[in-house]
Amino acid sequence: MKQGAELAGLTQQDLVSFVETLGEPAYRGRQIFAALQHRRLRSFDEMTDLPKELRARLSEVARPATLTVESRYLSADGTRRYLMKTHDGFPVETVFIPEERRDTICFSSQSGCPLQCTFCLTAQLGLLRSLTPGEIVEQIVIALNDAYGVGVQPPRGTNLVGMGAGEPFLNFDSLLHALRVMADSHGLHIVPNRVTISTAGIVPRILELANVSDRPHLAISLAAPTDELRNQLMPINKRWPLEDLLNACKEFEKTLKPNERVTFEYVMLEGINDGEEHARQLANLLNRHGLKAKMNLIPHNPADPLPYRPSTDETVDRFKDILESKGIHVYVRRPRGRDIFAACGQLAARQGTPMNRVEITSIGA
Ligand code: SAH
Repeated sequence: MKQGAELAGLTQQDLVSFVETLGEPAYRGRQIFAALQHRRLRSFDEMTDLPKELRARLSEVARPATLTVESRYLSADGTRRYLMKTHDGFPVETVFIPEERRDTICFSSQSGCPLQCTFCLTAQLGLLRSLTPGEIVEQIVIALNDAYGVGVQPPRGTNLVGMGAGEPFLNFDSLLHALRVMADSHGLHIVPNRVTISTAGIVPRILELANVSDRPHLAISLAAPTDELRNQLMPINKRWPLEDLLNACKEFEKTLKPNERVTFEYVMLEGINDGEEHARQLANLLNRHGLKAKMNLIPHNPADPLPYRPSTDETVDRFKDILESKGIHVYVRRPRGRDIFAACGQLAARQGTPMNRVEITSIGA
């Protein structure tokens, strides 16, 4: 594989500096930024507004794209899952979720994941490696090009969620860098206010994010209302237990705008964490910390080697009622893309069933 600068992860300013090292004027950097991020081109050959000699020179010292799409899966509900590979052979998964009012792209921050949450299939991969800023940005470019055509403006807005494979807060600098690249109005123009990043609870990074001015929304994966149960389901809890985590959330909440809320996610595992007592403990935990939170209940997405079943609808409703009676805002999340291993906790580089496999025709990757 040819080495060289990964241009997809550079800000406009970085690109200007980069072309200046080649003895080119600043406007060429802006041109290349627009080609990559606004026109969403993935090869120098397509950048026909650049002189041929410059394109030849660039291809010697830089790479406009590094991810390749291995396969694409289309769910009965319209969700698309992309299984991609990095230049050095690691899997990267991205999910495009069409919704009535806007689309959501769920991106990965790492290949695999170092956390060992027992209910999540990604955990079984272990950490392969953290993704670069360019690899994060490219996921969004590839998904948008496939959904709408190369460079076509999405008709509805695009929301991003950092809820794919990996722990985003263990790849914090690359993540923030990628978000800065994507926010540029001369490029993808997806501003942090349209982005939600989910963490299993890396407390120091939550506190650090509270001080970032242009920051995304924060979601916390809880999965249990007591340390005893959370230690079992999410071993990261042994490092940062609930008390530390919720104190950090409270600090974060102090910096929110009046109507903003921290989101909590609670995967519902039948007979494990879905009892009435769990609901009461959960409500008390949030209320004791004075958190004005929003709770997303996620029915467990089953996957072969995982020893859990999703809670029944009745149990979920009962759980929701108890939380609501204690003043918590609750939403039950509908699973999307379960049939193609695209739903929460199902990203493990699965090759899927041939029936759902859609041949790649339109992806310039
Ligand atoms: N590591 C980060 C980012 C991943 S977000 C984090 O943990 O927040 C993925 C979300 O899906 C998390 O809220 C996680 O708790 C949830 N999840 C994991 N496995 C799941 C499963 N099998 N069914 C439903 N939700 C699951």
